[in-house]
Amino acid sequence: MNMKIYILLGPPGAGKGTVAKYLVKSLKASYIATGDLFREAVANKTLLGKKVKEYMDKGVLVPDSLVNALVDEKIYELKLKNAPFLILDGFPRNIEQAITLEEILAKLDLAIEKVIYFDIPSKKIIERLSNRRVCKKCGAIFNLVSMKPKIDGVCDNCGGELFQRDDDKEEVIMKRLKVYEAQTKELVELYKSKGILYTIDASKKVSAVNSQVKKLILKNKNH
Ligand code: AMP
Repeated sequence: MNMKIYILLGPPGAGKGTVAKYLVKSLKASYIATGDLFREAVANKTLLGKKVKEYMDKGVLVPDSLVNALVDEKIYELKLKNAPFLILDGFPRNIEQAITLEEILAKLDLAIEKVIYFDIPSKKIIERLSNRRVCKKCGAIFNLVSMKPKIDGVCDNCGGELFQRDDDKEEVIMKRLKVYEAQTKELVELYKSKGILYTIDASKKVSAVNSQVKKLILKNKNH
């Protein structure tokens, strides 16, 4: 069976990463999060990390050439491993990347199954992003209001240290939201016109969002 591809589309802070991590566990889905890959590269001070850091710090998009090459390589690796589901989080982020994704998939005889759009009001996003904390070790995501860790500053899953992403600070959050509105949001119309857009209410609590997305993934396309 061919690998089924699902895109999680929505503004930063909509909960895409949280759902994706749940799907990895509950469906054994494979997962590509371009933001996570870049943060890892920055932390490891690789050549790629050095190239992308200044863009990330400013909250703007990294050049398409760096993103596209990375995604191309990762999808190819996963196709070879015969992964049943692939979740894309944070890619594509503009029309050019969407076109490149189609090309990458066509080359591998793959297609997008569904695009899941995380609908959420911007007031809620700002509240979520400013309270988000991430585990340095395993990448688990917490929220100081709605998903508090049991012990302050410590990951429930692995005991790692929790930190606030540099780009989750107020000034950068506003920039990232503007970039989303200007460059990423038009993908909603693009995928709607292709008949593969499915909208979920991302303002609900984590368990409700998780089950909405899982249902969409397990349901056949035309039902
Ligand atoms: P995220 O973790 O998805 O919020 O991404 C964090 C940052 O990584 C973004 O603000 C961008 O600077 C960069 N980034 C992640 N994915 C992409 C992408 N597909 N295209 C360009 N830049 C990206």
